[in-house]
Amino acid sequence: MNRQSQSSHNPTGTISESPIEVLDFEHDRYSSLKLIPWWEQEKVAAAKVMVVGAGALGNEVLKNLALLGIGHIFVVDIDTIEASNLTRSVLFRKEDIGRLKAAVAAERVREMNPDVKLAAHNRDVVMDIGLGVFRRIDVVIGCVDNVEARVFMNNACWRVMKPWINGGIEEMQGIVEVFVPPDGACYECTMTEIDYQEMNRRRPCGLPFDDIALGKVPTTPTISSIIAGIQVQEALKLIHGREVMSGGGISFYGTTNELLRTAYSRSEECPVHSSPTAIVPIDRKVSSTTFGQLLQEASGQLGEEARIELDFDLVVGLSCSCGERQKLLGRRNALKRNQVMCSRCGEIMAMDLTSEISRLSDELLDKTLSQAGIAPFDIVTIKGSNAQLRFEFTGDEAEMLNYL
Ligand SMILES: [Zn+2]
Ligand SMILES: [Zn+2]
Repeated sequence: MNRQSQSSHNPTGTISESPIEVLDFEHDRYSSLKLIPWWEQEKVAAAKVMVVGAGALGNEVLKNLALLGIGHIFVVDIDTIEASNLTRSVLFRKEDIGRLKAAVAAERVREMNPDVKLAAHNRDVVMDIGLGVFRRIDVVIGCVDNVEARVFMNNACWRVMKPWINGGIEEMQGIVEVFVPPDGACYECTMTEIDYQEMNRRRPCGLPFDDIALGKVPTTPTISSIIAGIQVQEALKLIHGREVMSGGGISFYGTTNELLRTAYSRSEECPVHSSPTAIVPIDRKVSSTTFGQLLQEASGQLGEEARIELDFDLVVGLSCSCGERQKLLGRRNALKRNQVMCSRCGEIMAMDLTSEISRLSDELLDKTLSQAGIAPFDIVTIKGSNAQLRFEFTGDEAEMLNYL
């Protein structure tokens, strides 16, 4: 059956002047979407969407993106599939138990719709996804269950001026929030003391729990599909350039079926909304560039005083009250408890931290950026005496944006 799109939606019944696309319902899988007056399948096909988390919410979001024919999806998750995921993950099967969530989700999306290309990464979004990835995405959809990852996504999106859509679920209630830099409130503007406590609870003294299972949030597949559905609808509006509830949230309470819309107020003290500086792409990889080489490269534009400013605490050594000292290099929030335990007396050792590297940082100049925990395709800020630049490690692009 063929139908004509534009004129059938003209409320006056007159024939539209705009070009008429003949829809082919038998052969074109997107033909019924094209009946929506504002729908532009070309924009959907050209869109690049990042999905952070391939759990209950992520599965529903990915399923929707697959059905819609979103052209490119970047999916990141560090977990493997467990039996308990099978009650709320439409993309996973019993045989998938033990396999990586991101990889399996990507496989199933390709099966659902071969038009969709995916890059699937078994990584921790907070540590291992460089800002260069965020910069090449149109919309980020957050499907995580913890404040730390949300704070990271919010910062990353603000730094490269990309919109993101947060989702959260618990039992029969959930929330969707849309943040569109540079205007309006950001996620951190909405954070309460309790949110910060929750973030620190996961990492006492900045260290993650090793073996203690954190309480899992009880959820149903029904609330996942409701919240994921709203998230993807908001993404579709952004992709089409339509109005969204920027800096606002929708809470849905399933017990009473109440829906509450909230417009957040922007906090002028919020540290996230700093104005972005120029990005300079350099054809280098974080795994083969040393801090010395990077400072050398930057000195041409920023002078000999150039210093690298990390956006995390870098551990450069450990010292114990018993007198023991150990060499160690890495991000503070990536360290495990057993790495900072004194081999002599068993106490937790004090960490020597830095977040700035200059020509005077002798011990670090021959270390590569990845040895210090900088993510591939990341953007690194370098300050001179009166200017600053952000260098993007574009040499990592092919490794990270491996859409298949
Ligand atoms: Zn803010
Ligand atoms: Zn000791």
